[in-house]
Amino acid sequence: MIGILQNKNLTDAKMKKLVDEHWENVKKHIVGKKNNAVALDNINKEVKKIFGASVSFENIVKADYIELQRLKNMWDLVTNNSKRKKIKGKALYGKIYDKWRTKHGNQLVKELELTVCAYCNRNYINGGSGADFDHFFEKSDNQIFALSFYNLIPVCPVCNRAKEYYKRRYNGKNKQLPTHISPYDNDKEKATDELLTFSYRYITATDCEPYIKRIHNPDMKNNVEAFKLEERYSIHTDLVSELHYRAMKYN
Ligand SMILES: [Zn+2]
Repeated sequence: MIGILQNKNLTDAKMKKLVDEHWENVKKHIVGKKNNAVALDNINKEVKKIFGASVSFENIVKADYIELQRLKNMWDLVTNNSKRKKIKGKALYGKIYDKWRTKHGNQLVKELELTVCAYCNRNYINGGSGADFDHFFEKSDNQIFALSFYNLIPVCPVCNRAKEYYKRRYNGKNKQLPTHISPYDNDKEKATDELLTFSYRYITATDCEPYIKRIHNPDMKNNVEAFKLEERYSIHTDLVSELHYRAMKYN
């Protein structure tokens, strides 16, 4: 996994700029039949009913990683299901997201300086249509966060699909999806590149097998399961064995 915010170029000031620009881009796609400002007002009315008078849609889109967790907890606690259903049933947020994705998605990946998928740290996502966006909090259950900056994780299509299957498996069992770690979680115990490393162990002097090293945080096990990282990294077995064999032979 790549801890996105551990990139020294992504300073607080740079991230604030990206988040502000993101909000401006999102606003362009909030289109009313007659008046766009009225369309945004209507969204804000819905938001306030759920999150209270002090929260606007802008706050939801711009919320930093910690604030987003807080808002998500509030969202989960909404007991008046009709309020939640009203938003859930709306295709509105999904539609705004689709427009945003087409127009601005690739630019965001570039600005975040990501060339490789944040989840698997393996597949390239730069250039062309290489990147998908995983909604860390599923879009289907959390429409309201469909455009929240820190809910949008640039990933490769393989990881995005893997999460879809993972989700279905859990939904099938009617269980809550276990939490995995977000590449935006900047807790130094969490989203670091070191937390999940790729190594190999010897079987014989000329044979070895790669494996994934997990350090410290047991939550990482859900990332490994959701994105099938063990299986995907084991493809490199032949290559590692070959390199190891050569090293043994020529040293
Ligand atoms: Zn990936």
